[in-house]
Amino acid sequence: MKDIHCKSLSRKMSDYVDGSLDLKTLAKLKSHLKECRPCVLFLETIEKTIGALGSLKKGVSVPQEAKNHLREKLKSVSRRG
Ligand SMILES: [Zn+2]
Repeated sequence: MKDIHCKSLSRKMSDYVDGSLDLKTLAKLKSHLKECRPCVLFLETIEKTIGALGSLKKGVSVPQEAKNHLREKLKSVSRRG
């Protein structure tokens, strides 16, 4: 079932945008994104959020507050399944 992948990968996505994802998981995530539109859209949302923050403070890492916000989003997506 795809849902299982989406759930576990959506948790990895915050690591992905952090740049702290290991290569193995990164490859898994990328191949999943090729066939899972909802996850692509979800990742785009995350990247937009990060991008918006990045344009406010260039070169500064994502604040903890924003990470918490993302985590909340990730949770709600997992619930939607
Ligand atoms: Zn997915």
